[in-house]
Amino acid sequence: MLNRLPYEIILLILMRLNNRKDLFSILGSCRSLYGFIQDDAFWRDLVRRRYGIKYNIQQQSWWQLYISGDANQMCCHLQNYDMRSLQIKRALLWNSIQNLNGVCCKNVQFDQYGLCMEPQCEFIGCGDVFFEKDESYSGHLRVHHQQTQHNIVLKLSPLNYMELWCYSCNSPIGHWGFPHIEKPIAEKCMCRNILQFMAALPPDNDPLLRLDVIERRRLIEQRLSVFQQNHNFTYLIEKRWFTKWINFLIGRSNEMPGALDNSFLFFPHDKHKLRHDLIIGYDYELVGASIRAYIERVYGLENESYIVSGGQPLYRGISQSALLHRNYH
Ligand SMILES: [Zn+2]
Ligand SMILES: [Zn+2]
Ligand SMILES: [Zn+2]
Repeated sequence: MLNRLPYEIILLILMRLNNRKDLFSILGSCRSLYGFIQDDAFWRDLVRRRYGIKYNIQQQSWWQLYISGDANQMCCHLQNYDMRSLQIKRALLWNSIQNLNGVCCKNVQFDQYGLCMEPQCEFIGCGDVFFEKDESYSGHLRVHHQQTQHNIVLKLSPLNYMELWCYSCNSPIGHWGFPHIEKPIAEKCMCRNILQFMAALPPDNDPLLRLDVIERRRLIEQRLSVFQQNHNFTYLIEKRWFTKWINFLIGRSNEMPGALDNSFLFFPHDKHKLRHDLIIGYDYELVGASIRAYIERVYGLENESYIVSGGQPLYRGISQSALLHRNYH
C-alpha cells in the first residue's frame, strides 16, 4: 500500500518515525521499499527532510550520517557554499583588512567584527567579542541577522578569529576551544574547508595586500597566544611545526607553517597511542585549548593526525615570553 504513494509522501511518513526499528521494519516490508535501503539518495532526502541538513562529507554516506544520529546535532543553517560565493567572501575579508571605512558604523574596529556568510550578501558589521546572547554590545551583525534571517557569520574577533558562528543555533560551528563539546565530524569538516579557504593568503602578484593579510594573521595569533598564558597547556604539538609557527609569530619569518602533521608523536602502528620516549622542547611543545582549536580549524591537520592532551597540565613560558619581549604590540 505504502509503496504506491508518491515518493514525497513516503518520505513525509518515514521521517516521522522516531524509532529506527520501525523505520527498517517498514522498509523491509515490501520489495520496492526495500530498494530504498540501498539507495543513498533516499537517505540524503530523509536527512534533508527530517533534520534540514543539506551538507555531508565524502568520507561518509548519507546512510551513515542518518544512522550515526549526528544530523540531529549539526547546524542546519550551514550551507555547502559554492566556490564563487566563497571567493567573493574572501575578497570582502581581504578588503576589510585593508580598509574598514564606510562599513556598518564607527564602532567597527579591526578586532571586533564579522562577515555575513549568506551567499549574495556583502554585509560586514560590528559585534561583541564573543557574540553570545548576553553579549554586552550586540552590534549591527545581530541587527542584520534579525532583519534578514541570515544566520551564519565569520567572526573576526581576536580570541575567536576565523570562527563560524550561527545566530539561530546560538553556537559556534565546527571547531572551538571547549574539548568537552565535540561537534559532529561532518560539521567540523565543512567548517574547516570553509575556514581554510577563507584563511588562504592573497596571490603573490599583490604583495601589498598579501603583506597586510600576513600582518593581520600574525597580530591575531600573537594575541591568541598571549591570551592563553594563564591557561593550562596540555596539548602536544610537533616541535618542527611549532618552531615554524613561533618564527612566524615573532616576525622572524613571513612564512606560516602549513597543515600540522602530528603523526610523528604517535606509534607508527597505532595512530592513537602517544610514543613513550617523547621529550618536551625537543619532540613537542604544549599549547592550550584555544590554540589547539585554532590550529585544527585554520591550519588543519595532515596525515589524519590528531592533537591530543598529554594529560599533564604544564605551564610553558618560553615561546610566550619570547612573544611578549619581542614583537607584541
Ligand atoms: Zn545553525
Ligand atoms: Zn556597527
Ligand atoms: Zn547577510
